Amino acid sequence: MERLTGRTALVTGSSRGMGRAVAGRLAQDGALVAVHYATDGAAAHEVVASIERDGGRAFAIRAELGVDGDVEGLFADLEEGLLDRTGSTDLHILVNNAGVMGATSAAEITPEHFDRIFAVNAKAPFFLIRRALRNMPDGGRIVNISSGLTRFANPDEIAYAMSKGALEQLALHFAKSLGPRNITINSVAPGITRNGNPVFDIPEAVEQMAALSAFNRVGEPEDIADVVAFLATDEARWITGSFVDATGGTLLG
Ligand code: NDP
Repeated sequence: MERLTGRTALVTGSSRGMGRAVAGRLAQDGALVAVHYATDGAAAHEVVASIERDGGRAFAIRAELGVDGDVEGLFADLEEGLLDRTGSTDLHILVNNAGVMGATSAAEITPEHFDRIFAVNAKAPFFLIRRALRNMPDGGRIVNISSGLTRFANPDEIAYAMSKGALEQLALHFAKSLGPRNITINSVAPGITRNGNPVFDIPEAVEQMAALSAFNRVGEPEDIADVVAFLATDEARWITGSFVDATGGTLLG
């Protein structure tokens, strides 16, 4: 039996990037995974197919986050998918991974762009957690994907870093109230991690980004997936409210 057999998981933004790797890893560990996406249904269904090829279980659900009705819409589909496959709407693991980047300086960012970044990166996770707690049995797991930028200055991403700073508050405060239910909640902070951004096709750019890490390479989505998967297991039962530096040593300076 795998370590997450019998568990169910929702990974937001798992059509690509780190979310995809997290979904694959949790499924490999035995969880039934809801692969959530906003726009790219083909990519999400390919993630599901890939999990199934590897002997895992998954289904896709679409919901744009950061807009009115987002959380209720997502949970309506999630509950239907869980009920069909397990006979219950229990959700054991929530990974708040979906996020929007915001490489715009303080001088240039518009109020609308600022609000959008906060709506997707901080507000949606808050209300997803609140809603998920109705379905989460005791012993559940919540992991929020933050960023090393909450501790590493980059003035061009100030609004994005602020939104991740807000996201990190969720682990601190929810941890205290969820302890009696043995539900843990933690923040995982990746450093620069390979995703579909074309910048990762430019060798000189990758070399510069790699130099920020103690290991002289950029992160791979699987580097983060392994950390998230650990936090989702019973072995991580004593870790809650924490900030996990998964930047490959970038924060060492
Ligand atoms: P990607 O940009 O590769 O993928 C983002 C995912 O989030 C996609 O599945 C996308 O779905 C989904 N998504 C984006 N906006 C929304 C929305 N409004 N509603 C619903 N889903 C949405 O992400 P990464 O793997 O790069 O990043 C994952 C997380 O890690 C993010 O929270 C990011 O801030 C954080 N992070 C990333 C770093 C990096 O270097 N890559 C570094 C530090 C933190 P769809 O495509 O269908 O729209």
